[in-house]
Amino acid sequence: MKIFEEIESEVQSYARSFPRVFHRAQGEFMYDEEGEQYLDFLAGAGTLNYGHNNPLLKEALIAYIQEDGISHGLDLHTRAKAAFLETFSEKILKPRGLEFVMQFTGPTGSNAVEAALKLARNIKGRENIISFTNGFHGVSLGSLAVTGNSHHRGAAGTSLGGTERIPYDGYLGDGIDTTAYLDKMLSDSSSGVDTPAAVIVETVQGEGGINAASFEWLRNLEAVCRKHDILLIVDDIQAGCGRTGTFFSFEEAGISPDIVTMSKSLSGYGLPFAVVLIRPELDQWRPGEHNGTFRGNNLAFVTAKAAIDHFWSDDSFERQIKAKAAYVSDRLQAIVDRYGEGNFETRGRGMFQGINCVNGEIAGKITRAAFKQGLIIETSGADDQVVKFLCPLTISEGNLKRGIDIVEKAIAEVCAGEDHIPEPVDFFEEDYSASDDDRFKVAS
Ligand SMILES: *Cc1c(COP(=O)(O)O)cnc(C)c1O
Repeated sequence: MKIFEEIESEVQSYARSFPRVFHRAQGEFMYDEEGEQYLDFLAGAGTLNYGHNNPLLKEALIAYIQEDGISHGLDLHTRAKAAFLETFSEKILKPRGLEFVMQFTGPTGSNAVEAALKLARNIKGRENIISFTNGFHGVSLGSLAVTGNSHHRGAAGTSLGGTERIPYDGYLGDGIDTTAYLDKMLSDSSSGVDTPAAVIVETVQGEGGINAASFEWLRNLEAVCRKHDILLIVDDIQAGCGRTGTFFSFEEAGISPDIVTMSKSLSGYGLPFAVVLIRPELDQWRPGEHNGTFRGNNLAFVTAKAAIDHFWSDDSFERQIKAKAAYVSDRLQAIVDRYGEGNFETRGRGMFQGINCVNGEIAGKITRAAFKQGLIIETSGADDQVVKFLCPLTISEGNLKRGIDIVEKAIAEVCAGEDHIPEPVDFFEEDYSASDDDRFKVAS
């Protein structure tokens, strides 16, 4: 459309992959202004875990707006904030035995990461932060410094310092535990790596190509942090809020981070909202040290509370995510076995999975072919070589199957040529069906 070419900056990115003018969205579907329907397997890059315009959250939001609830209040105490804090404490933290205080930062993930890094550096009085190959933590200067991607780093125009990069789990191949390397570096006063204030890590790297760290590696990383008196920061901005199957992505690994950053799906409604969770004894901020006009979006407090009440009051949602995740794993493995010819591989965990297509050209052909069939799906990784499946967690089983069928056809088209497209392997069986608990169903 002309207006976008005329006055919107060239910095646009996703808009280039999906050149339509979108107008409405509901659940796992988006609609363009012509009324064309698209199945959304991008879901705001992991921001819409509960789908677009989830009716339950919408109802709470509209009611709050109707009663002239506080919309902007700096960091003033509001009833909406109190209600969110109570719900988060009672339904998320306490049942998991977690003790954190919550810092409301500016509303982007990047700002939460900035705050986490500042706090860690100030607590320990050390500058260095250990970050990992292929990590992504945002594009403001501090968070960009701990981000790996050279395309993003190259835009900084200034030096990005104060961090040391270590290979992530699997980076040097199977059987090499890179936390042993980290331990060795930190134990050797001549290694050249200064004792860091903190390590910042994603349990599953989203933008970096859906690389899932093993639980053992995460536990070893925690042990190295404890041994060397280093804070452990888990960036759960994309992997959190149920994406991997549990509310926090680190729960199953059994680790206890000192600081956790959250954003993306936390508001549940796509509203900007970010927090830093801090172990109480580490909350060494002085008033206003990390300030910001938009700290604590009251509209997001309302939808975040509604999302937690609805999806996280018991374990039924977790069970549904796990059932769907098992289906996705099996389907993606079958696709790789059938078309990959030893080149493709599956990656990820929970509903945070992808197919590594070796190179970005093939992955791009696949996502473009899928878009022609009405599926919005993106790539990630250093060379955009991984097709990533990030659909809403609330997606119906039928639409989950439909989306994967489209990708499978697209892969067949790209790999085998259009004349040789077999029917997708269909094995959506009862085994995968979660209980038909209607807490999960999104009213249409
Ligand atoms: C998206 C993302 C960020 C940055 O969040 P923004 O809201 O884009 O600033 C940071 N860390 C991770 C893991 C992310 O996925």
